[in-house]
Amino acid sequence: MAEFSLDLDEDQLQIQKWVHDFAENVIRPAGHEWDEREETPWPIIQEAAKIGLYSFDFISQAFFDESGLLMPIANEEMAWGDAGIALAIFGSTLGLAGIASNGTPEQLLEWGPQCFGTPEKIQMAAFAVSEADAGSDVSSLRTTAVYDEAKDEWVLNGTKTWITNGGIADIHVVVASVDPALGSRGQASFIVPPKTPGLSQGQKFKKMGIRASHTAEVVLDEVRIPGHCLLGGKEKLDEKLARAREGKRSTSQAAMKTFEASRPTVGAQALGIARAAYEYSLDYAKERKAFGRAIIENQAIAFKLADMKTRIDASRLLIWRASWMGRNGKEFTSGEGSMSKLYAGETAVYVTEEAIQIMGGYGYIREHPVERWHRDSKIYTIFEGTSEIQRLIIARAISGVHIQ
Ligand SMILES: Cc1cc2nc3c(=O)[nH]c(=O)nc-3n(C[C@H](O)[C@H](O)[C@H](O)COP(=O)(O)OP(=O)(O)OC[C@H]3O[C@@H](n4cnc5c(N)ncnc54)[C@H](O)[C@@H]3O)c2cc1C
Repeated sequence: MAEFSLDLDEDQLQIQKWVHDFAENVIRPAGHEWDEREETPWPIIQEAAKIGLYSFDFISQAFFDESGLLMPIANEEMAWGDAGIALAIFGSTLGLAGIASNGTPEQLLEWGPQCFGTPEKIQMAAFAVSEADAGSDVSSLRTTAVYDEAKDEWVLNGTKTWITNGGIADIHVVVASVDPALGSRGQASFIVPPKTPGLSQGQKFKKMGIRASHTAEVVLDEVRIPGHCLLGGKEKLDEKLARAREGKRSTSQAAMKTFEASRPTVGAQALGIARAAYEYSLDYAKERKAFGRAIIENQAIAFKLADMKTRIDASRLLIWRASWMGRNGKEFTSGEGSMSKLYAGETAVYVTEEAIQIMGGYGYIREHPVERWHRDSKIYTIFEGTSEIQRLIIARAISGVHIQ
C-alpha cells in the first residue's frame, strides 16, 4: 500500500509536466476551432498517439500508479487545455474501464490495446449503457442479448443513446439485458468487435459543450458476436443469474464499487476546467481597470477569486483522497468517490460562471475561452451519474437507509 502524500514524486511530476506541455502547446490553442467545428479532432488525437499519450501503455501506467494519483493528474491537465478535446482523447478509456471492470485478465489483454490502436492506425472505444428511457435508471434498459447455443454466439438488439465515441469507435462495450425480469442483476457487458455487421451510428447530437467530443446513438440490429465476447465469461454469468433468481445478493455491488473508483477521474476533468477559468479570470482581474483601479482591488471581485480557489483546492483534495483509496483497496464507506465527482462537477460550473462575471462582457463573447469553459463544465453534473445520483449514493452510504 502506498503512503498517502501530497508531495508528488519525481516520476509523477515529470508526467504531469509532460501532459501539461501537450495541453498547453497542442490542446489549448485548438480548443476554440474544434468547439466551433463540432467534430472529432483527429489530427490532435494523432499527435497524442505519436507521443504515446493516446495509448494503452500510458493509460495502464497511469492506472497502475501505486498512489492512484496519476490518472487524476493527467485528466486535470488535459481538461485544463480543453475539456472537449480531452474527452475526444480520453473517451476511449471509458470503454477500457468497462472491459477492465467486467472482463477477465485475458479479455483485457486481448481487447485493451485495440481500444487505442497504434499511431499508424488509431482505434477508439466506446462504453454504451444509456438508452432513451434508461439514463440514471440503468435497471430499466431494454437492449437485449440472447444466446444462440448452437453457434455459440450472442445476438444483440436495441438502441443506445448519448454514447461518447458511439458509432465511430472500433470497440463498443455494450451493456445489455440477458434476463429482463431480473433488472440490473440480469445484465451483462459485451464486446462488439470492429466492423461487426448490424452495429451502426444513429443520430449524432449537437451539444451545448464538449463539442469536440463525439456523442451519438448506437443502433444494434441483430448484432451477432462470438461467445467469447461476453465479458467475464459464460460460467460467471450463469452463476450470477442463478444467484439472482434465488433472490441472493448479487455481485453487482462489486460493479458499483468499480464505478465509485472511476468517478474521481471524471471529477479531475471538471477540476481542470475550473482551474483554467480561475487562472484566466485572476490574470484578467489584475489587468482590467475600472474607476481608475484594477478590478481585483475591489473586494467584490477579489473575494470571488478567493472562493473559487478554495473550492478548486477542496475539489482536488477530495479527488486525490478518493483516487488513493480506490487504488489501495480502501472501502468507500461514505461514498467518497461520489463526493469527489459531485463537488468537482459543481465547482466547475460555479467557477466558470464566476469567471464570466469577473470578465463582464468579455466573458460572454467567444473571443475569450471562459464562455466555452462554462458550457463545457455543465456536463460534469450530468454524465457518469448526475449530481442527484451522487448525493443519493452518499446519503445511502452515510445513513444505511434506502433513500429514494
Ligand atoms: C455528452 C454526453 C455524453 C455521454 N456519454 C455517455 C457514454 O459514453 N455512455 C453512456 O452509457 N452514457 C453516456 N451519457 C449518458 C449519461 O450518463 C446520462 O445522460 C445520465 O446518466 C443521466 O441520464 P438521463 O439523461 O436519462 O437523465 P434522467 O435519468 O432522466 O434524469 C433526469 C433528472 O432527474 C434526476 N433523477 C433521476 N432519478 C433520480 C432519483 N432517483 N433521485 C433524484 N433525482 C433523480 C436526475 O438527476 C436528473 O436531474 C452521456 C450523456 C451526455 C449528455
